[in-house]
Amino acid sequence: MRQVIIIGSGPAGYTAAIYAARANLAPLLIASSVEAGGELMKTTEVDNFPGFPAGIQGPDLMLAMQAQAERFGTEVVLDDVVSLDLTGQVKTVTLGNGDVHEGLSVIFATGSAYRKLGLEDEERLSGQGVSWCATCDGFFFRKKTIAVVGGGDSAMEEATFLTRFADKVYVIHRKDSLRASKVMQDRAFSDPKIEFLWNKEVAHIYGEGLVNGVGLIDTVDGSETTLNLSGLFIAIGADPRTHLVHGQLDLTIEGTIAVQGRTSRTNLTGVFAAGDVIDPTYRQAVTAAASGTVAALDAEHYLASLPKDLVDSAVQASMVTDTAAEPVAV
Ligand code: NDP
Repeated sequence: MRQVIIIGSGPAGYTAAIYAARANLAPLLIASSVEAGGELMKTTEVDNFPGFPAGIQGPDLMLAMQAQAERFGTEVVLDDVVSLDLTGQVKTVTLGNGDVHEGLSVIFATGSAYRKLGLEDEERLSGQGVSWCATCDGFFFRKKTIAVVGGGDSAMEEATFLTRFADKVYVIHRKDSLRASKVMQDRAFSDPKIEFLWNKEVAHIYGEGLVNGVGLIDTVDGSETTLNLSGLFIAIGADPRTHLVHGQLDLTIEGTIAVQGRTSRTNLTGVFAAGDVIDPTYRQAVTAAASGTVAALDAEHYLASLPKDLVDSAVQASMVTDTAAEPVAV
């Protein structure tokens, strides 16, 4: 049995692991089978994480966080959680490979998942010209005409990045002004390859096999137009990943996991939540990391309140022998 099981491998999960491991709690971190490292694995330059004056690539930052967590004794497992029982004093976490892990506390840091437009053809043409990740798929659109949907920082970042490959990048936005930060807006506005299509919603995605165009509806006068293009990048935000805890953890009206005040405490004792999954507002790597710290400290405090023999039984099962050496084998 573990003292702490952390679910999620973004900045919140890894930072919680660094703190928990340094407190000698020998955490087990479930990092996901294909998406370990979270959203930053799909980003390029991260310019706003303190301590990197020249910026750092998203994947490099996440691999560094993982190494830091492992250095102090975190065990990282690359698998998906398929079910959870968080209600008892001992929590159980079942993985895709069938393994069942028990823990006295769980830190839930599953982040958020890309939002979809909800169009019939979106799924059909996913990977055939419809994408949610410019850094993953931009390369395939060399010298092509493509579009990005959205008006936030993600859309501006994707559009700007895609000009490295595409000849022309439309930004399709349903309003006549952007939600993105001024600096990101200015970068996109000054790029000669980017053209904004204001007050437009994507109503159809066309193409047999590969995307060849979209049907747009004007949100002001309702008029319809068609735009020929080879790729559509959807960057309209993300929703907290909470499906594993429905019916167990309380959610807020925004759909994030409800926590008590500025803590990471959920409605269930011994269960803590951190990062984008509790944050409908700020959703930055650095705020997620800070939130992971809070969760680790809350978990540590909670464990200290449990009967000593119970905690000792978990400690025995996951004792760290050398805190600065290899990941701990249990
Ligand atoms: P946001 O929620 O900020 O923006 C989503 C955008 O998509 C909005 O413009 C919204 O329109 C639009 N949208 C939402 N749903 C639909 C829909 N169904 N159809 C059409 N358009 C839709 O999400 P982001 O992912 O852009 O950003 C999330 C957070 O991450 C923010 O805090 C942002 O600052 C941060 N971020 C920071 C970056 C950086 O600093 N380098 C890079 C990327 C993100 P409307 O405006 O009308 O609501």
